[in-house]
Amino acid sequence: MSTTTDELFKNVIAHAKEYGFVFPSSEIYDGLSAVYDYGQFGAELKNNIKTYWWKAMVQMHDNIVGIDSAIFMHPKIWKASGHVDGFSDPMIDNKDSNKRYRADQLLEDKIAAYDEAGQTDIAELLQTEMDNALKAENLPRLRELIIEHQIKCPISKTGNWTEVRQFNLMFSTQVGAIADESDTIYLRPETAQGIFVNYLNVQKSGRMKIPFGIAQIGKAFRNEVIARQFIIRMREFEQMEMQFFVRPGTQAEWFEKWKETRLQWHLALGTEATKYRYHEHTKLAHYADAAFDIEFEFPFGFKEVEGIHSRTDFDLSQHQKFSGKKMQYFDPELDENGKPYGNYVPYVIETSIGLDRMFLLTMINAYEEEDLSNEERQDSRTVLHLHPCLAPVKAAIFPLTKKDGLPEKAREIMDKLKVDFNIQYEEKDAIGKRYRRQDAIGTPFCITVDHQTLEDNTVTIRHRDSMAQERVPADQLDKIIGDLVSW
Ligand code: ATP
Repeated sequence: MSTTTDELFKNVIAHAKEYGFVFPSSEIYDGLSAVYDYGQFGAELKNNIKTYWWKAMVQMHDNIVGIDSAIFMHPKIWKASGHVDGFSDPMIDNKDSNKRYRADQLLEDKIAAYDEAGQTDIAELLQTEMDNALKAENLPRLRELIIEHQIKCPISKTGNWTEVRQFNLMFSTQVGAIADESDTIYLRPETAQGIFVNYLNVQKSGRMKIPFGIAQIGKAFRNEVIARQFIIRMREFEQMEMQFFVRPGTQAEWFEKWKETRLQWHLALGTEATKYRYHEHTKLAHYADAAFDIEFEFPFGFKEVEGIHSRTDFDLSQHQKFSGKKMQYFDPELDENGKPYGNYVPYVIETSIGLDRMFLLTMINAYEEEDLSNEERQDSRTVLHLHPCLAPVKAAIFPLTKKDGLPEKAREIMDKLKVDFNIQYEEKDAIGKRYRRQDAIGTPFCITVDHQTLEDNTVTIRHRDSMAQERVPADQLDKIIGDLVSW
């Protein structure tokens, strides 16, 4: 069936809602912008993605351990990390529409428009001028560029702009009963700092030797001004991050290793390699000496899913400075001159993937509107070809009819399987309809219990992707399912 990429994206969003994967938050109150809730199958899929990541990163590496640090942290942490002063976007308001825009985004859109119109010289010039203004944090110059290039407000079509102001992306709140400046704390905008401030606790209590890593999965919060593209840019989202602590001077080789390892993690799910690409950052953040994104081709174009950053010793050194506590590691190993490497602040390679973007990528990649028409009849199905290890429901059990003891037999089989797998029981509607419902949530196996089952204890197992059916002994089901859904 031919669908445009725009339609495809809309269909995936509608499907995610209809089948209990993702709901807009607070929907009965008309929603809350850039916030979403995960439904019954969404929560399962999300947990399975987390497990896949945790197993690959923590379980499969004997030098990586996982932690779970608090969302609230000492406010000085965000001073040290640079987020209080630097984690902001340059915003401009349109006076006629009262709408706020990212100044750099308006300019980027204009650059793209020049490019499209074949005016590449002007596009390049504007790009350079914008980059210079951003680098110098020259906010008035950003406004001048917007005016010079006659950029209009997308809604009211006027060029009546305010000054450009920095808008911090961190959410703040108050601890304790009395509102006072000193009690202001922030909701963490990344999980990484919880790892940095615990690195010595983990190193000492776990007797970790460099190189070693600390992983964590958790919520992060950013007051994104421009919320768009569904769960790509949320105000409350989840990250899966790993900080790998290495000896200074070895960061380049570890960076290459993690860049490669992380792409392999994505590809191991069976995604076509052409859907992924690396994007190298040429403008590096002040703390980084190398940075690559892993991008996925969403229906609206390539977009970052994961960042691999070589963060030098910036974070640990900053925490050493701000806390007054030593952040050094003693390395007893001997260098080429036979001397211990001794004390140093480790360098850090970070891998940071957005769980929600990974979730969307997985849904989009799995989604198919399949035409099953033949000469005799028109037919179609919507199916999620999810990797079996990620599928929310591993198998569905159907009694062929609601009588003759078939429901009891089906439930007996289900009770054995549900100890190990997430199983659904369905007896309503014709079998064909039940297959379609399971296809739509990506269930790899449907098992039908019929009258023959009562005689010889065999069942029909139907495979989601091929739709092929075979007859198998019921007591082999746990092995058949287990072999395919295991990690
Ligand atoms: P972007 O440039 O798209 O805003 P970023 O460079 O700010 O992303 P990082 O700070 O490197 O992102 O965060 C690491 C990962 O966290 C990203 O690759 C992305 O998958 C995820 N992420 C960041 N911001 C959001 C958000 N607002 N909503 C959902 N996921 C996000």
